[in-house]
Amino acid sequence: MKLSERASNVSPSPTLAITAKAKAMKAEGIDVISFGAGEPDFDTPENIKSAAIKSLQAGFTKYTPSSGIDDLKAAIVDKFARDNGLEYQKNQIVVSIGAKHSLYNAVLAIVNPGDEVVIPVPYWVTYPEQVRLAGGVPVYVHTDESTGLVATAEMIERALTPRTRLLILNSPSNPTGGVYNRKQIEELANLAVSKNFYVLSDEIYEKIIYDGNKHVSIASFGPEIKKLTVTVNGFSKSYSMTGWRLGYAATEPEIAAGMSRIQDHSTSNPVSFAQKGAVEALTGPQDAMKRMVAEFDKRRSVIVRKLNEIPGATCATPGGAFYVFPNVGGLIGKTGNGKTITGSDSLADYLLEDAKVAVVPGTGFGAPSYMRLSYATNMQAIETGLDRIAESVAKLR
Ligand SMILES: *Cc1c(COP(=O)(O)O)cnc(C)c1O
Repeated sequence: MKLSERASNVSPSPTLAITAKAKAMKAEGIDVISFGAGEPDFDTPENIKSAAIKSLQAGFTKYTPSSGIDDLKAAIVDKFARDNGLEYQKNQIVVSIGAKHSLYNAVLAIVNPGDEVVIPVPYWVTYPEQVRLAGGVPVYVHTDESTGLVATAEMIERALTPRTRLLILNSPSNPTGGVYNRKQIEELANLAVSKNFYVLSDEIYEKIIYDGNKHVSIASFGPEIKKLTVTVNGFSKSYSMTGWRLGYAATEPEIAAGMSRIQDHSTSNPVSFAQKGAVEALTGPQDAMKRMVAEFDKRRSVIVRKLNEIPGATCATPGGAFYVFPNVGGLIGKTGNGKTITGSDSLADYLLEDAKVAVVPGTGFGAPSYMRLSYATNMQAIETGLDRIAESVAKLR
């Protein structure tokens, strides 16, 4: 059978591939330490779970409005006002089945076939695939350590053409953990307004930010950029609700209506009782999230220190999310177990084989001399896993 062009053009997720391989080894009884996880290792806070359970028991089990229930939209409107200084009305909010779904709805609502979408590299693996599914053309902007792997307005401007329709921005970033500073975001906002392109701002790691920094939403730099922005956020990362599948977007009423129509005919509403849990997440106590972020912060300093002790690896201290993204370029060209390390793919294979440690190669994020390690795992695993990586790296010749 010949698949459609659309289906044939989609690549499998490289992050899922390595975690699957590590899981298979674990199932064989091999003691594998995995740094692959893209989700917090904490349980969903109890108050959120009970709100969903109560609503289930009360029979809240039917279809809801496709773009989300009214009380959740109201809680989201309050959240944007409180946390981001952004005023939205309920008709500007679309609740979807995960932030990934919100992003996809936004891409489908904005991008026409042939339109160019600017994506800074390293990027979250899903962005180029969603753009291609919409018939759009990803245009990559390469970054390096001189800007902390962040794309400046100057760099974005060089990639613009008359076909540029959208910029996808992700701060704090997956995979790098990098955070754009206020000035960098303001300059991007000014560029978008002067060149008239849309911005899809993925702010899913908003709350996972360190060193007393505060997240800045690009839409908050005035009414003009707000009109051009779709802000996406969700519950998976901040509230450890990955399996609940809930995310949301805030944007101009016309774009929100377009996204809702797409959702009407593809998935309909997000899960009814999950939405009730989400209302509690936004309106209830926030201390479980704060404890989680404090724990991530401790792990962050340990993993960064231990990575920098490995000759051939250099690791910047990430400002947010729960990933480190060390440059392992110094190990490329070396040989281990009779095989040459040609890039982060073969390095990840070597580490899985020799150290029994799973890391995600940077190739899938557009950055083949880097690898991604998630520290959403316990401190013991971080200590032991990094020791094992150091031992295996020391054997490379
Ligand atoms: C995890 C993640 C998402 C998707 O989150 P869901 O709400 O679970 O769909 C979106 N963007 C980035 C960068 C992520 O890491």
